[in-house]
Amino acid sequence: MSKTQKPATIAAHAAGAIDAQSGGVVPALQPATTFIRDADYDLVRPDNIYSRDNSDNLRQAEAVLQRLENADETLLFPSGMAAISAVFRTLPNGASVILQSGIYWGTTAWVRTFCARRDITLHEVDADDLCAFCKTQNVDLVFVETPSNPWLKAVDIGALKANTSALLVVDGTAATPILTRALAHGADIAMHSATKAINGHSDVLAGVLSFADKDSRTCVDIKADRKMAGAILGPFEAWMLTRAMRTLPLRVERMSQNAQVLAEFLMAHPQVDDVFYPGLPHHPGHAIALKQMTGGFGSLLSVLVKGGREDALRVVGKLELFLRATSLGGVESLVEHRYTVEPDTGIPENLIRVSVGIEDIDDLIGDWVQALG
Ligand SMILES: *Cc1c(COP(=O)(O)O)cnc(C)c1O
Repeated sequence: MSKTQKPATIAAHAAGAIDAQSGGVVPALQPATTFIRDADYDLVRPDNIYSRDNSDNLRQAEAVLQRLENADETLLFPSGMAAISAVFRTLPNGASVILQSGIYWGTTAWVRTFCARRDITLHEVDADDLCAFCKTQNVDLVFVETPSNPWLKAVDIGALKANTSALLVVDGTAATPILTRALAHGADIAMHSATKAINGHSDVLAGVLSFADKDSRTCVDIKADRKMAGAILGPFEAWMLTRAMRTLPLRVERMSQNAQVLAEFLMAHPQVDDVFYPGLPHHPGHAIALKQMTGGFGSLLSVLVKGGREDALRVVGKLELFLRATSLGGVESLVEHRYTVEPDTGIPENLIRVSVGIEDIDDLIGDWVQALG
């Protein structure tokens, strides 16, 4: 298959996955947990023994993601958190880590408890201070998220790489591999919660790690550990994911267009104090995003409405089309009052996080017009 295919082509064809046995243009779902041996006790397919190791459906989904990331190796996990924890578990006791502050709360909360348990020194550093801090510290791992959730801060991956010799891991969930190929900018591992835009239909939980070097110790260790310790994505989820990713570039394009228009509309609205979105010229991360993101700025934005907690909750309560639910990156638009979910992390009480879907933009704006009143 041509190595020069563009992402839309790779995705639409699921990186060439078909069902050779039936001639079907889509791969079959094979849920077997165990695989037969012939009379000579040879495996019918040497790479299929037991589905905790791997499965055809898993390999098909990984092949799509590997080509979208242009990675040397790609491994799927049963959730984004399982992917993140797989990376941290490779650290020896007493290691030292830099974690970007103000990122996905699930990551921060887990990394804090993990590091405390394992005697790992943890430095939590704001996106704006990362390069300067990295220069002065000799650490084992640097973990960043760009754009970050829910502050939408941008991290210059290339600049960070130039300032650290540590393993650089980039959570690009809000960007997707379509808008940012973190490995091309110098990351050692590109991580995504595939639960979000990669699957995009709010019906599969999955996470992914893509590696710049499959022979690196980290990649070898993570691969061995996934196989032996069993944090594997099941064939049904992998099959669903392969199906969903056929439209990933289309969905990301439409979501980004909608988010840009909505962000501009909200920014100009008298009932809005500020909008965090990398596609807005006044956003502090705009210059980095322009340089690092291709084809749009993603589907995630945060709105600070005028007033306080009650005012934000009133607006959220009046929205009819935007569903009140956590998560992001799905075809349906969602809102979340983050302060209600994480009251102790410095989230402004008037912040509403918005995940913009693929609906008609006029309907999306109309909903905010009536909700902001
Ligand atoms: C959701 C999310 C995760 C965690 O992924 P799960 O699939 O929910 O485990 C990690 N990072 C970011 C940025 C996320 O939005």
